[in-house]
Amino acid sequence: MGPPGSGKGTQAGDIGERHGVPAISTGDIFRANVDADTPLGHLAREYIEAGEYVPDSVTIDMLRDRVDQPDCEQGFVLDGYPRTIAQVGALDELLTSTRHELRAVLVLEVDRDELVDRLVRRAATEGRTDDSEDVIRRRLELYADETDPLLSEYDSRGVLVRLDGSGTRAEVAERVAEALAVRA
Ligand code: AMP
Repeated sequence: MGPPGSGKGTQAGDIGERHGVPAISTGDIFRANVDADTPLGHLAREYIEAGEYVPDSVTIDMLRDRVDQPDCEQGFVLDGYPRTIAQVGALDELLTSTRHELRAVLVLEVDRDELVDRLVRRAATEGRTDDSEDVIRRRLELYADETDPLLSEYDSRGVLVRLDGSGTRAEVAERVAEALAVRA
């Protein structure tokens, strides 16, 4: 977990490779559906472009379908899910029904100036439609209002690990690896 620009996608991909499990990014799945012009993409597009969250019912069903795929049997890394309290509850049910255990919730912490800086740079290189200034502001606000409060729930369960997400990809990867090693 972590705000937009904190490096979730990069680190989740690296963790997945290191552990031989899929990294599931709900944002990537939505974007792929938008690009492929599917009914799900049609629905998700307006939310993504406005920086709003896609409704829980849609997101939860989509994640369940993804986790039901055979490549998730040995485990998986989630990137950008859960983002709301309803998604936390749905994930608990999903993990119980698929007999998985939540090993750790990693949070990448990066100060606001660096986040905005990274997002502005990403806008220039990746051309994401939701990396404009107004939408970035809304996504940061929504993270603070809806998603940041979920951290105290995971903290009370003893699975939360807060990590310094500043610095290079390799520096952050090392902190992530250390955090996961003590939870193996
Ligand atoms: P991301 O690539 O994780 O920054 O996600 C991009 C956009 O996809 C978000 O701003 C939301 O509009 C949507 N999205 C991704 N994951 C979720 C989620 N778990 N719940 C609701 N909307 C999501």
